[in-house]
Amino acid sequence: MSQVSTKRYLSKTAKNIKPSGIRRFFDLANQMEDVISLGVGEPDFVTSWNVCEAAYAAMENGYTAYSANAGLMELREAISGYLTKQFKLRYQPASEIIVTTGASQAIDLAFRALVDPGDEVLIHEPSFVAYAPIVQLAGGIPIPVEASAESAFKLLPQQLEAKITDKTKLVLLCFPNNPTGATLDETELGKIAEVVKKHDLLVLSDEIYAELSYDKAHVSIASIHDMKERTILISGFSKAFAMTGWRLGYLAGPEVFIQAMLKIHQYTMMCAPTIAQHGALEALTNGLEDVTKMVTSYRQRRNFFVKACNQIGLECHKPGGAFYAFPSIHKLGLSSEEFAEELLKEEKVAVVPGSVFGLGGQGHIRCSYAASMDNLQKAIERMDRFLAKRI
Ligand code: PMP
Repeated sequence: MSQVSTKRYLSKTAKNIKPSGIRRFFDLANQMEDVISLGVGEPDFVTSWNVCEAAYAAMENGYTAYSANAGLMELREAISGYLTKQFKLRYQPASEIIVTTGASQAIDLAFRALVDPGDEVLIHEPSFVAYAPIVQLAGGIPIPVEASAESAFKLLPQQLEAKITDKTKLVLLCFPNNPTGATLDETELGKIAEVVKKHDLLVLSDEIYAELSYDKAHVSIASIHDMKERTILISGFSKAFAMTGWRLGYLAGPEVFIQAMLKIHQYTMMCAPTIAQHGALEALTNGLEDVTKMVTSYRQRRNFFVKACNQIGLECHKPGGAFYAFPSIHKLGLSSEEFAEELLKEEKVAVVPGSVFGLGGQGHIRCSYAASMDNLQKAIERMDRFLAKRI
């Protein structure tokens, strides 16, 4: 037996950071057979073949070395053109864009470059589980702002303004939202932008689900008047292009911020994977039709799943984007953890308890409808049986 007291070596940060609430469920689900998983936050499509071929070709042609720190210039040019075409945004490929190792690294870089110890970062919740821990890793203080079910999980300007103090520096926005699927239209974003400008804050806008907007075209807050200069845009290839395992995302924003992030990126990551970048270039050049097809399929599944949830008694607002439904389980009198655990054990359907996504998540479950229609139908039947025993 080792005599080393290993705990002594762990940093306070490592000791204090909480493990992700999602993981525990997947460990449980993985030990069971015949589980229908509506748990994972990733597309059920495999990456388009032409994208894979472009990566093979990159390897065959010997493009196996580091790329420029900020990413392949051709890819940054393609990202710039794509952002202009899709979202009316203009960024200089040479100075205002960094290709990152997933949107995850983009979030980390942005917080590291902008947060000083004690700075407050407003995060609307329910939201993606990584934001608050990453703010803490950067020495900042995450301040949750509840975007509640009553407003269909849209962030209201007055809710945001109420949490602003003289320590507030940044506002994190994520629309379309994980886990609620909520979206904000141009008018709603305009009102948030007014608060941001009034209090002279910066926005970190995680728009990784932008393409997966089903009812209205996505609007970026960076395209709202006077907002480009105070917005860092985060996006990537994982969701819309079904490329989660390729680990590619990007940051776009004003040069002064992007160059500060690039300094950190040079030392901590060097560059995003070069082979994957060649795939992403193909995805932006010849892959947009496939994105449209996937979006059509997600929209059909959303329509089916949300309607079916409401029919079996799981009250659910219609999410405008992403691939998650976030039904209420309030009337069952169970916590969201109890619901998810009992549903998994009794009916072998894996969902994520809403409470892991922070304020406003308790009393809800996150169901990803990026699953086959067959599995969605079966999951509904199983949940119906589960509810029938309780309601
Ligand atoms: N932002 C949000 C809102 C997400 O849901 C996710 C993945 N679940 C990420 C960022 C991370 O994406 P990536 O795979 O590009 O790191």
